[in-house]
Amino acid sequence: LDVIGGVEPRIAAATRQELEDQRGSLKLIASENYASPAVLLTMGTWFSDKYAEGTVGHRFYAGCQNVDTVESVAAEHARELFGAPYAYVQPHSGIDANLVAFWSILAHHVEGPWLQKFGAKNVNELSEEDWETLRTELGHQRLLGMSLDAGGHLTHGFRPNISGKMFHQNQYGTDPETGLLDYDAVRAKAREFQPLVLVAGYSAYPRRVNFAKMREIADEVGATLMVDMAHFAGLVAGRVFTGDEDPVPHAHIVTTTTHKSLRGPRGGMVLAQEEFAPDVDRGCPMVLGGPLSHMMAAKAVALAEARTQEFRDYAQRIADNAQSLADGFLKRGATLVTGGTDNHLVLLDVSSFGLTGRQAETALLDAGVVTNRNSVPADPNGAWYTSGIRFGTPALTTRGFGAEEFDRTAELVVEVLSNTQPGTTKAGEVSKASYVLGDGVADRVRSASAEM
Ligand code: PLP
Repeated sequence: LDVIGGVEPRIAAATRQELEDQRGSLKLIASENYASPAVLLTMGTWFSDKYAEGTVGHRFYAGCQNVDTVESVAAEHARELFGAPYAYVQPHSGIDANLVAFWSILAHHVEGPWLQKFGAKNVNELSEEDWETLRTELGHQRLLGMSLDAGGHLTHGFRPNISGKMFHQNQYGTDPETGLLDYDAVRAKAREFQPLVLVAGYSAYPRRVNFAKMREIADEVGATLMVDMAHFAGLVAGRVFTGDEDPVPHAHIVTTTTHKSLRGPRGGMVLAQEEFAPDVDRGCPMVLGGPLSHMMAAKAVALAEARTQEFRDYAQRIADNAQSLADGFLKRGATLVTGGTDNHLVLLDVSSFGLTGRQAETALLDAGVVTNRNSVPADPNGAWYTSGIRFGTPALTTRGFGAEEFDRTAELVVEVLSNTQPGTTKAGEVSKASYVLGDGVADRVRSASAEM
């Protein structure tokens, strides 16, 4: 930090402060974690300075022999860890990984067959007329994914996202009574909509998914099953999700981030069955430019860590701790979406406290509890204010929290929310944003959590 401070003191100060904030609060954001020192150090090396467009052994720049080693080792760990025939470790983020997957599916099912029909090897050989035909065909494809308020991600066909614009999109939700995925309803929608891509996976659904069933549905309608396991990759790697709950043997393509429950550096990855490998391998130049070689190196280190028994124990504790957190909420009378959890996250409906998600999120932050507000199914408060708070256990499990600490965490959260009242707007109406937190509550909760 002294070296950084000698160049830009404000960045050194913010970095130091970030460390203090992350250490001095309860980090419960479900998509965050604490990467190991080995992973953090690997991110900060001179691989950052190297350009390496292309793939292993096939680069558009000279001097990529060390990057080739890094990329090969990362891909080898990914293949072996997840039991996948093919792994692509270049995507810079989860969104990039999803874009690579979408375009690979389009390349495989649309571009390839049309090139064959036109007798061309690649798009550069097409006449202007054929090129227009291909572009029109690419724009006519359909994608069915889980809706945002049911727990899906923006990239699963949410209209404002590119995935909702490049495809004709449709969305499946969850059962309005139970909050659970209804496979029959997904099947009915898939039959009616006939998607090219069926997306499974989630950011805020607190339950496991039966990927064998999702594959069955995809096969029935001739769709490609893409599973986005960004949130629960650590639970797959750690063998907590096995059999029908492991997406890798069932999906045609699996995408993930590497920085959430997997506890690696920020980044993305695509795993694919053999038939999609050649298309995914063209992620650059299809969607990506030069890979972040230093991040691929850090992915390799994180994946090596994830192959240990220690990581498997960690993954099991993530799920056990989510159970303790959920039980802690339920025994104190709180309402949980789906009534509980069986993965790494818990979705608390804060409307029973008379609050919006936004009020709850900021009141909790005042007390040093870092979470994010989240829509609940059919949320009356919309995506900005919301009615939910999402909690995840991966980060605090890394810090060594167990059942007792997570029960105490639930107690502290309930203490904050029970002592928070909605504020009023300038016009004297009940506000959806401002709130009044009871005297002394924030300090009391902060000092209680510092003791954990
Ligand atoms: N997919 C899912 C399911 C996610 O939850 C997220 C991030 O929250 C992403 C993709 C996007 O990842 P990134 O933020 O790395 O682009």
